[in-house]
Amino acid sequence: MNIAISNFQKFAVILTVAIMTACGGGSSGGGGTPATPTTPTTPTTPTPPVATGSTTRSVTPAGLPMGVPGCSMEQKLGGFTDGSLEIKDATWLQVVGQKVDDSAAAASDKTLLAAGKEARIRVDVTAAGTGTALPADAKLQLAWADPGGVTCEEFTMTSASAAAPTSVDYRTLDKSYVATIPADKLKEGTISYQIVVHAADSAAAGKLYRQGRVGVAPAITDKIVIYPITFDGQTGSLPSTAEIKRLILRTMPHADVTVTMAPAVTLTTLTKANGVNRGSYYEFTDDQMKSAVSDLATKCGIDYPVPMANESGEIDPSWGPWPLRSKVERCFGIYPSNVRFTEHEGLGQLANRVLLAPSFSSTDNLSVSGPYGSDWLSRGALVMLHEYGHILGLGHAKCGTTEYLDSWDGNYRLYGSGRLGSVAMGFDTRDGITPYYFADTTGTEFADMMSYCRKKWTSDRGFRAIIDYLGYYDYDPRGGYPWL
Ligand SMILES: [Zn+2]
Repeated sequence: MNIAISNFQKFAVILTVAIMTACGGGSSGGGGTPATPTTPTTPTTPTPPVATGSTTRSVTPAGLPMGVPGCSMEQKLGGFTDGSLEIKDATWLQVVGQKVDDSAAAASDKTLLAAGKEARIRVDVTAAGTGTALPADAKLQLAWADPGGVTCEEFTMTSASAAAPTSVDYRTLDKSYVATIPADKLKEGTISYQIVVHAADSAAAGKLYRQGRVGVAPAITDKIVIYPITFDGQTGSLPSTAEIKRLILRTMPHADVTVTMAPAVTLTTLTKANGVNRGSYYEFTDDQMKSAVSDLATKCGIDYPVPMANESGEIDPSWGPWPLRSKVERCFGIYPSNVRFTEHEGLGQLANRVLLAPSFSSTDNLSVSGPYGSDWLSRGALVMLHEYGHILGLGHAKCGTTEYLDSWDGNYRLYGSGRLGSVAMGFDTRDGITPYYFADTTGTEFADMMSYCRKKWTSDRGFRAIIDYLGYYDYDPRGGYPWL
């Protein structure tokens, strides 16, 4: 009997009480005033130094066969005298921010990247005083063991600022070194890294050098089928399947997701006779909402039968072992605007296959021009992502609700505040051209996607929980990751 199965058994008991997780009541609209762009600082343009020497820095990846050398890189030295420059902080950015140095983190908070998905690194170098040039030579090297030996990949880190700041400004990326790591350079396993910045001399070189290891989870994928629901002449609708795919890649750890559109369906529960006519729409109760989800679950099970049995020989779309979690199609029912439910907008079966969510026409609020105003994702997109979080095993984050709080094997995995953490960073690739970077430096500005509070984004804890759900067989939420 392995851990994963026993987790499921315990979880199944919880679910007999609360098999569905209802969401998203009441409050709508409003929101803050869109932030005006930050006033640009007066550019100072100190001249980058020219090195007079260098020192070799080496890193050895985990699992490297005996006798195979690791990866090396030159750290440039000299050409300037300011020995106060130092790496103050470094963060991986892949949907969420996660510490490069996670040595002080609890096992369940260890940094975990997802393979096959573009990531960035943010490296903050500060100086004691103003006007010190940020050296131009700053690099990241990733190293991993391959069956044939070792692979070393070098990435140039660049900064939009010519001068080193005197303290870390988490609200912007413009004063940090940033390097982009393409999706195909992040492979599952343990990757060793070294960060090297040109230093004044050998005495100062250590402050501009970091090395360590980071865990990279398997590439996360999923299959989603959209079922538009027809009621009284209207049919639910979403932006294009390409937009829905992009929305999921922007907000979740997925490397890939297939989104297909099924023909429109009618659900047995959603009839005019069952609803209350409110003029422009029919209102249904939350119990009817649960029935509608069950109707769709039946349809989903017929259209996409589960292809394999669990270890007991049972075919159970709800409670199969890990391969079922990662291989079943998940069915999203989208209802039209002439349908409303008394208390909730969306409903997702917890750790299962089916959700119900309202129609929406755009993934983004086009009137919001940056991440520091109100929600830049549309309300409909946020409801759908929240319900999707439920079917990937997440309960609620404790902000705006205390109902159906996240609980996996008895552990609440999200932040106690229901927000993103005390110094949280996020990165939305958006259209791939104009991404949004943001940070919550107060722990109160942004909220977890799984909460009922405003200005939502995925928390790093939620991000890892989704990786755990879709990526691992024997995941133990308190045990950390086997290779670290
Ligand atoms: Zn919910």
